[in-house]
Amino acid sequence: MSEQLIISVSGLRGIVGENLTASVAADYGCAFGSFLQSLGPSTEDAATVCIGRDSRTSGQMLASAVTAGLCATGIHVVDLGLVTTPSVAIMAKELRCSGGVVITASHNPIQYNGIKLLLGSGIAPSAEQAAQIKQRFLDKSFAMADSPHCGRVSCNNQADTFHIAKILAIVDKQAVAARKCKVVLDSVNGAGGRITKKLLAELGCEVVAINDEASGLFAHSPEPIARNLQGLCEAVKTNQADIGFAQDPDADRLAIVDETGTYIGEEYTLALAAKHVLSERTGKIATNLSTSRMVDDIAGQSGGEVIRTAVGEANVAHAMLEHDCVIGGEGNGGVIDLRVGLVRDSLVGIAHVLQLTAETGKTISQLAGQIGRYHMTKEKFAAEPAQVEQILNLAKETFAGAKLDTTDGCRFDFEDGWLHLRASNTEPVMRVIVEAKDQPTAESYLDRFRTARTRLLG
Ligand code: MG
Repeated sequence: MSEQLIISVSGLRGIVGENLTASVAADYGCAFGSFLQSLGPSTEDAATVCIGRDSRTSGQMLASAVTAGLCATGIHVVDLGLVTTPSVAIMAKELRCSGGVVITASHNPIQYNGIKLLLGSGIAPSAEQAAQIKQRFLDKSFAMADSPHCGRVSCNNQADTFHIAKILAIVDKQAVAARKCKVVLDSVNGAGGRITKKLLAELGCEVVAINDEASGLFAHSPEPIARNLQGLCEAVKTNQADIGFAQDPDADRLAIVDETGTYIGEEYTLALAAKHVLSERTGKIATNLSTSRMVDDIAGQSGGEVIRTAVGEANVAHAMLEHDCVIGGEGNGGVIDLRVGLVRDSLVGIAHVLQLTAETGKTISQLAGQIGRYHMTKEKFAAEPAQVEQILNLAKETFAGAKLDTTDGCRFDFEDGWLHLRASNTEPVMRVIVEAKDQPTAESYLDRFRTARTRLLG
């Protein structure tokens, strides 16, 4: 059964009632608890883990099961209730926990749920730590507590308050409030609606909230991409709003619709946030190798530098810490500001974008226009692990003249674009991402790779 589950650096994900059941979740709780116990006591008292969940109806069941597993290994649990992923990361640090757990399958369809793990610093485990937890889960290598040493459970309903305070500390509340932005918010009936409405009210915005019920019954496919956000685009137009924000169910990703009701693309979320931060502070940006060149352009204009990392939120967060970056994130609409937390946070994105519009007096379409436009194409193809090296070598031959980065697969940088080829961490496929100034150029790079691949694989 367990081989059908997806177990990656992001935790565990599966289909509820099929391969993701209460007993699987309890075992995963035991594995995480045993892993934390193996790190040694962080305090004299037993270790504590805080747990939160997005709005999926299976969330309470899985949270209870993970809690049971953690308590069985002697870990105390603080139940944060229905909260966003970044809220759990903030509370893990705030409450000096040894770890955090989020019951979420992020943007996956409704039949899925998952168990996302965080360390006490509020950062996702490294690949090595994730591998240790996975092995404990598969081997059922658990360090069970005896009766007097089982963990206890308490509740904490302060996550929204702490999270909003962190956001307000990085934003000029008066400046944003003076703009009196009219915002349409689409939280897809996920965990983001409640806290984001509170934040937008604090920032003096007029809010039209759609799909803000936190019922877990997603009003549309939950990934915040163009084809799923037609309702938001319409609502921005009908309400003559200044901006539309879309969150995924656990509210770590943010997509933006401009004042004309046009979806501008998730790559612009980090770009706009970076544009704002670099207008105020000098410093570096960290992002993964699959993220748009827009951030290089923005960094270049302010004399900043971009640190490129392997794909994965924890890789970006580690690079941000190492290089003391002022902003970071991923092209999927996930923005990280170390002053708030170490995970992607849609509220961070909202704060920076609203402040950018307030300070410049420009509309979202004008700001996106200033950044410029690239064409990005993504595709994946089946590739067994044994073939990966051969395919990467083939790509190196095909693009022999390009600047090469092998941090995560191969990224080839050309004068007028780039191509990133890497193996997926979760399925036997390889992903190709190409970006160029226009579609024909992007297609030409992709075609060169496809032709070579066909010669090799047929
Ligand atoms: Mg998410």
